[in-house]
Amino acid sequence: MDNRTSVIKGKPVLWMVIPCYNEEAVLPITSPEFLDELSHLIGLGKVSPESRILFVNDGSKDRTWDIIKDLSKQDPHFIGIAQSRNRGHQNAVLAGLMEAKDRCDIAISIDCDGQDDISAMEQMVDAYHDGCEIVYGVRSDRDSDTWFKRTTAQGYYKVLNRMGVEVVYNHADYRLTSSRVMQHFADFHEVNLFLRGMFPLVGFKSTSVYYSRKERAAGKSHYPLKKMLGLAFEGITSFSIKPITMVVKLGAVISLAGLAAFIWAIIAAATGSHISGWIWACCLVCLLGGIQLFSVGIIGEYVGKTYLESKHRPRYIISDRTWGDNDAKLKVTDWPKPDRK
Ligand code: UDP
Ligand code: MG
Repeated sequence: MDNRTSVIKGKPVLWMVIPCYNEEAVLPITSPEFLDELSHLIGLGKVSPESRILFVNDGSKDRTWDIIKDLSKQDPHFIGIAQSRNRGHQNAVLAGLMEAKDRCDIAISIDCDGQDDISAMEQMVDAYHDGCEIVYGVRSDRDSDTWFKRTTAQGYYKVLNRMGVEVVYNHADYRLTSSRVMQHFADFHEVNLFLRGMFPLVGFKSTSVYYSRKERAAGKSHYPLKKMLGLAFEGITSFSIKPITMVVKLGAVISLAGLAAFIWAIIAAATGSHISGWIWACCLVCLLGGIQLFSVGIIGEYVGKTYLESKHRPRYIISDRTWGDNDAKLKVTDWPKPDRK
């Protein structure tokens, strides 16, 4: 599969891919910062002036899409697509990357709230020029997190690794990918998305860039505990069948213990001892019943996933583009070059 990367490696066309959901408070603050960084990279000759900042409106209910359309009128570097409804962060990032893959040489996905250090993009682009096709943005500390989020997140990465899921520790979705990686990524058809676990599976030379994560510039997080747990569960069950193996092992150990107890009871009864029975029997029934339910639940989770995958539903639907369906409108050569502050 050929791509544009090899053709114009000197000045690659960069697309920043930025998911936005109800971000009317944040966009006016962070959009100039994105443009500022892009101008900086263009000024240094590290990326092409044809580069773009792509906002993906994920079915926002506030003025987010209006703001994106206004931005696209103010500066040709700002462009946007709108999803037909809210589908979640992972699907919004995917929609942006798939939109970008044939139109740029490299894409950098980043949240729109300013938490990820925008200036780390330069290092990412440098790593690309050094031959890396995936560059993971990794948080060097978790000081801006609450104690609870920090502890659970760190424990979670360890559990994921134990389960055999390959994820880069403390990396979320701030990531540079080459168009070649995105082309191959398009062949991953799953609908249960956990992007940070999927990209390492694509392969190619990769590296990490470290940055310190900040507070949100404005607005509030869309990842309450319930959604966080959902994504965490997705990460395990979409990538690993170890939970099933663990349940099978647990089941085997418990049944062997039950069998041993049963044999012991028969021998004890045969040798004339009195077996005080019903309490133990109840405990055993409860224990086994609980384990069976747990096991069936886990198996059900995988069956459910298979069901969802088998439907092959679209993972995103784009309802609008700031440039309509005419890609020629993306071509801009004379544009105002704002100075980097
Ligand atoms: N987001 C999205 N769709 C959603 C929820 C969030 O596109 O359904 C975007 C959001 O606008 C932001 C990014 O995903 O750019 C991360 O969300 P957030 O900052 O709320 O998560 P946190 O950083 O608190 O984990
Ligand atoms: Mg955030």
